[in-house]
Amino acid sequence: MTYFRDNIDAMTAYRPGEQPEAGAGIIKLNTNENPYPPSPKALAVLRDFDGELLRRYPHPLAEQFRRTVAGVLSVPVDWILPGNGSDELISMIARACASSDRPIVCPVPTFEFFLTQGQIQQAGPVEVPFDDQYNLPVEQLAVAAGAVTFVANPNSPSGTAAGNGQLGELAKRLSGILVVDEAYVDFADSHAVNLVRKHDNVIVLRTLSKGYCLAGLRLGFAVANPSLLEGLLKVKDIYNVSALACAVGAAAFDDQQHMIANVEKIKAARTKLTGELKELGFRVWPSQANFLLVRPASGEAEAIYQSLKDRGILVRYFKGPRLEDKLRITVGTDEENAALVEGLREVLRT
Ligand SMILES: *Cc1c(COP(=O)(O)O)cnc(C)c1O
Repeated sequence: MTYFRDNIDAMTAYRPGEQPEAGAGIIKLNTNENPYPPSPKALAVLRDFDGELLRRYPHPLAEQFRRTVAGVLSVPVDWILPGNGSDELISMIARACASSDRPIVCPVPTFEFFLTQGQIQQAGPVEVPFDDQYNLPVEQLAVAAGAVTFVANPNSPSGTAAGNGQLGELAKRLSGILVVDEAYVDFADSHAVNLVRKHDNVIVLRTLSKGYCLAGLRLGFAVANPSLLEGLLKVKDIYNVSALACAVGAAAFDDQQHMIANVEKIKAARTKLTGELKELGFRVWPSQANFLLVRPASGEAEAIYQSLKDRGILVRYFKGPRLEDKLRITVGTDEENAALVEGLREVLRT
């Protein structure tokens, strides 16, 4: 006897990375948070926030944030749909578009939450393998003919990215929706917002969790033409973005200068860390994100993960296929990265 649908009983829940308490003295390089504080302008809005705005319901479309985003990206306001993190938008897209005869397709390994959505909707999911270099398998994805094809670009956990040529080709060949999840795009060389203008089946997803140092705020948005967003609006929770997230997020997104300066620091650290890890014998996949997928020469990734954890350094270990010999390491501050490299030296010596 169960209270749940059969497919819910059969599935395993998405497992988030470990979150030790703040101030526990752990070097946390496991969930791709930004190591730097958010924009001072966003923090000023938070400090001065009017309690009266919490008594009332917020704008159902987070209008202030939506307008700010539209202005910065130079797209019309009605091409933007804010969400309670981009996770919520992923779930809305799945609910609106996917079912047993309308599959979710994605290249794998990737962000597991896409697969979770497929299981909830009984819509596959159909997994199309990346090759060892993580080239986007355009042909196989087109043939799989998803109602929704999710491509994280840059991809997690690989950090690799496809160009707009390939994404555009895929959009053209699909009769369903192509979702380009740009959670890490602030650290990348290019973005796909132009594809939204060219192809009426493309949705770009963004978040303030990574590039804008606001993972705890829970704020993201979709960019797509209004006829696509219309379907998503039907499944949207009524007041999905809090008044606080809307106001703080608008100030943060408006402060592009802060975001860019911060991202430049992380990109420089990424280059340095890549070199250091290669010197320690790791294979490092080329990353356009704020993390690195690495394979230790021994392939003993789980043991290294555990030894680092014993030393107070958390990185991400995925037990899944093709990842059991690899680690995903978030790029931290220079001090955190130095501690990681020192920890790895010790671990590899013993
Ligand atoms: C972090 C991440 C997200 C989630 O972003 P939120 O806005 O915090 O929900 C979405 N997609 C990928 C690939 C991510 O890594």
